[in-house]
Amino acid sequence: MSTNQNQRKWQKVTWLGLPLVLIGGWFYPLLGFALLGCMVGAVGIALFDGRSWCNWMCPRGSFFDLFMEKISAKRQIPRFFRRWPVRAFMVLLIFFMMGLQWYLSWGNLPGMGLALVRILTVTTIVGIILAVVYSPRTWCLICPMGTIANLLTKKDRALRIEPSCVNCKLCSKACPMQLKPYNFRQDGVLGDRDCIKCSSCVAACPKKALSFAGQAAENCRVA
Ligand code: SF4
Ligand code: SF4
Repeated sequence: MSTNQNQRKWQKVTWLGLPLVLIGGWFYPLLGFALLGCMVGAVGIALFDGRSWCNWMCPRGSFFDLFMEKISAKRQIPRFFRRWPVRAFMVLLIFFMMGLQWYLSWGNLPGMGLALVRILTVTTIVGIILAVVYSPRTWCLICPMGTIANLLTKKDRALRIEPSCVNCKLCSKACPMQLKPYNFRQDGVLGDRDCIKCSSCVAACPKKALSFAGQAAENCRVA
């Protein structure tokens, strides 16, 4: 089984965490604290493997890939969502909203859990709208934890691009984050830290020009 297929298999399990907290949290607010686990996971993994948490470990990312793909307009994601002032604003907004709600309900654990469920609900609704209007993973560009993970990412386990690349751009068409590996052909390594390491580009490349360290390109090819 290819890397790509393996990740899809895990996504079919992890996405269930989203309805569990999003719906279950309104009845059992302590479930909201699961969000803290997601935050720690995204940041912790970013320290040694970039945004790979966002690939199949994030329940919402898995949900976008599995379900939004079918109903998305699949348009180009506007540059607006990649701008750093926009991303920084989203980080500040989410942490301000979380801090304010926790301040108002401090000591009341169900109230604090419900604050997290509210944030998850609102951001997921926004994410679904963006997925329908633009592309399934549009939210992932302004997701506060994705932005923090981006900032913590080192380049040492980045996607490698071989000189055999012929600039056909099929990798970009397959990329859920709409990145452009071919633009980094001269460097030999992807310089965009929003790569979630899904290997979709590796599978799509007809020249087998893409790979991750310790992973032969052909191993990632979807059968
Ligand atoms: S799909 Fe492969 S050959 Fe085509 S542009 Fe991307 S890296 Fe280059
Ligand atoms: S560049 Fe390749 S591995 Fe990275 S997110 Fe895009 S498709 Fe996935």
